[in-house]
Amino acid sequence: MKLPILALVLSALPALGGSLPTTTPQITIYTSYQHDLSDVVEKSMQAELASIMEPVGFELEWRSLEAPNESRVASEIVVLTFRGKCDAQGLTLASHENAGLGWTHLSDGEILPFAEVDCDRVRMLVQNDLFRLPPMERAKALGRAMARVTAHELYHILAHTMRHGSGLSKPAYSPQELLADEFLFDQRETKALRRPAKTASPKKPAIGSESASPVMSYQ
Ligand SMILES: [Zn+2]
Repeated sequence: MKLPILALVLSALPALGGSLPTTTPQITIYTSYQHDLSDVVEKSMQAELASIMEPVGFELEWRSLEAPNESRVASEIVVLTFRGKCDAQGLTLASHENAGLGWTHLSDGEILPFAEVDCDRVRMLVQNDLFRLPPMERAKALGRAMARVTAHELYHILAHTMRHGSGLSKPAYSPQELLADEFLFDQRETKALRRPAKTASPKKPAIGSESASPVMSYQ
């Protein structure tokens, strides 16, 4: 992790966390992957997130935390860490535990621009459904599922709220929702993203830690 470099970038951008500019806000996403990611999964995830954010009016730029630092102007910077294996190889038919798929970090009730997605848990949740797809389609579908979990965490960060809604920010997903052809923010969520709360409103501040907003699966 190159957090010291990132900290410099963050401090150089006064717009972070402030009001959005009138031009199309650009969100720069710095990524860190625990395991290598297949091209198909990555492209599918990025394309799906672009189509989720485009109607809201946000443009996404993807950069690697490991890449050399360049100064760029961005409305917001978010750091995403992907844990576990983010690919569709080696799937097994198995039951999944009802566990969080993603987290957004908090500190003293403040929402930080740092989120994590647990690829192993996303895979586990959707793998029985992935098996029903032609092998060529599985990686793409997994990328879509990852995009939706990521969009959920971006919602908390960009709308400055830990509250949940009924579109992509709903507190729990079914595997079918994660793999659906289309799953977007609803009107209320879109409004919240365009006019973020001035101060964060955690529903339940974490007890003494950076806490999370787990995206749970339906049982
Ligand atoms: Zn949440």
